[in-house]
Amino acid sequence: MNDYTHNSGDDALKRLQAVRQRTDAACHQARRESHTVSVLAVSKTWPAAAVHGMAMAGQTSFGENYIQEGVDKVVALRALLPDRPLVWHCIGPIQSNKTKLVAEHFDWVHSVDRLKIAQRLSEQRPSHLQALQVCVQVNIDQAATKSGSSLGDATALAQQIHALPNLVLRGIMCIPDSVEGFDAQVAAFERATALFKQWQQAGLAVDTLSMGMSGDMEAAISAGSTMVRVGTALFGARQYAG
Ligand SMILES: *Cc1c(COP(=O)(O)O)cnc(C)c1O
Repeated sequence: MNDYTHNSGDDALKRLQAVRQRTDAACHQARRESHTVSVLAVSKTWPAAAVHGMAMAGQTSFGENYIQEGVDKVVALRALLPDRPLVWHCIGPIQSNKTKLVAEHFDWVHSVDRLKIAQRLSEQRPSHLQALQVCVQVNIDQAATKSGSSLGDATALAQQIHALPNLVLRGIMCIPDSVEGFDAQVAAFERATALFKQWQQAGLAVDTLSMGMSGDMEAAISAGSTMVRVGTALFGARQYAG
């Protein structure tokens, strides 16, 4: 776990405001209303104290990549801030043996890329909880090495998720290959946007395009992102990759 003791509460507020300024400016550039883009704070590798600081600064939605680490923080934050329910998003790869933990502890999952995982999440969602909010992770670069549903398979998967009882299909998540230059970044994100629009035209009630991170959120917003997933710009540089 990264050491967070050097970061004060003031720092969390400043970083949150700086990120919001970036998303507001990008919205302005793209002639979009600021409220159409939300910020998901990606707290992977940072301790519960860091999430607590960011929550006290006003942030309510947090994203985690590693399931067990995320669950530990969900539980810790419920004890630290019992009166302030946070919204937890699972954004990392999910193995079959981890679906139960995800179904029991998270509110959203951005990284569903195959039917088997979706079915297990729906079956394992506890009945006292709201339906799990789901995005299909789409491999928009068609890279063989990357997780995510292929562009060709994603629409069928979306329809299958839509039909599952304890899941609500919300949209698409993507992580494009990093490319140099704003226009090239926008072009990559626009492949996800095009698919998203196809789904809407086909009658799927999707409203979430989860794309853009600390380094490319402006391009993602220009291409239509509704949710940017921001780690480094909010919490600082992570000490190990993830
Ligand atoms: C780590 C991560 C992020 C945040 O990346 P930063 O560059 O630190 O903002 C966003 N999305 C996913 C899926 C991630 O794994």
